[in-house]
Amino acid sequence: MKSLIINKDDLKHNIRKIKQIVKYTGRQDNHKPIKIIAVIKGNGYGLGLVQYAKFLIDNGIDFLAVSTVEEAIKLREAKIETKILMLSSTAIKKEIEILVENDIIITIGSKEALEQAEQIAIKKNKKIKAHLKIDTGFGRYGFIYSKPEEIVQALKNVKNIEIEGTFSHFSLAFYKKDEYSEKQFNRFINVIEILKQNKIETGMLHICNSSGFLKFKSKRLNAVRVGSAFLGRIAIPNIYGLKKIGYLKSNVAEIKTLPKKFNIGYSNSYQTKQETKVAIIPCGYCDGFNVKEQRDMFRKIDKLRYIVRDIKDSFKDKSLYVEISSKTGEKKCKVLGRVGMYHITCDITGKNIEIGDEVKLDVNPLFVNSTIRREYI
Ligand SMILES: *Cc1c(COP(=O)(O)O)cnc(C)c1O
Repeated sequence: MKSLIINKDDLKHNIRKIKQIVKYTGRQDNHKPIKIIAVIKGNGYGLGLVQYAKFLIDNGIDFLAVSTVEEAIKLREAKIETKILMLSSTAIKKEIEILVENDIIITIGSKEALEQAEQIAIKKNKKIKAHLKIDTGFGRYGFIYSKPEEIVQALKNVKNIEIEGTFSHFSLAFYKKDEYSEKQFNRFINVIEILKQNKIETGMLHICNSSGFLKFKSKRLNAVRVGSAFLGRIAIPNIYGLKKIGYLKSNVAEIKTLPKKFNIGYSNSYQTKQETKVAIIPCGYCDGFNVKEQRDMFRKIDKLRYIVRDIKDSFKDKSLYVEISSKTGEKKCKVLGRVGMYHITCDITGKNIEIGDEVKLDVNPLFVNSTIRREYI
């Protein structure tokens, strides 16, 4: 049996830290505090959608955001009454209807989505709450920034949509050079000005994700959308004192001694160099262990970069380790051979480790199968 462990004190620390960062360095011109929108898509970044949502609410978060209709419904079914923004624009009638019935703030990023929402509002005889999405160069959801007259035109005759916010999304906020974020920000502000000139209500403005709000004090606008920073797993150097949330807990299932020159794992990529005492741990890549994001191979420069990195890495110890707690303390043990779907084999030669001893594995919760229990301790 295994579970994903979430340390409540560490998570509280991160929430407090993020509130502090936003509070002390980010006040709007009108002296209103900047709002935190907690993004909990992807099963709450792996922390368990409902459990995590409740934890955030208990710690003062009052605005959530999700990416799918399913997530939004699940939260409402769990009796979570907080404000929820659905971040993805949809022009599918059925989806807008379900979102509206569940009192979810929808995102409108196209003329089609806008028209569909307007019709639904008329049919239901109620105002629909929405945020407008501007595509400032991401190529996903949103009205294209370079055609502001089309946005104005689309919004002119709309009477039943209450625009509570307008937002955009950075594609490169984690990058050490900020030119592109700067560009996207200016494109966004430009669209906002044109909307205002045309007397179109824009509501609260937001563009920053975690890397964005941590790096750019001057771009926080009225709200920041925070996901990965709550887990302390950000794509920029963590100079903010955020703690890394989540590890996998399991137990040693079997122990045995393998003879010299014995194969371990698929593809016969590892052979014991001498007689080796090993522990079998029932965890593998299905539990998120050693799962990494796919490499970008679109640009030649990326391919080159990976080759250079691989050569450098070949001189370093890139072995994987797990921590096993025995009666005589915690021990770092090396993983031998390939990681299997549900199994790994670890070297415990000379270590006083027994069957049942607890094992800690560093995993990104996002990659941990949602069937695995989330335990808040
Ligand atoms: C996922 C997401 C976020 C949060 O991003 P982090 O980098 O994890 O903070 C914010 N906005 C949108 C639109 C997203 O999809």
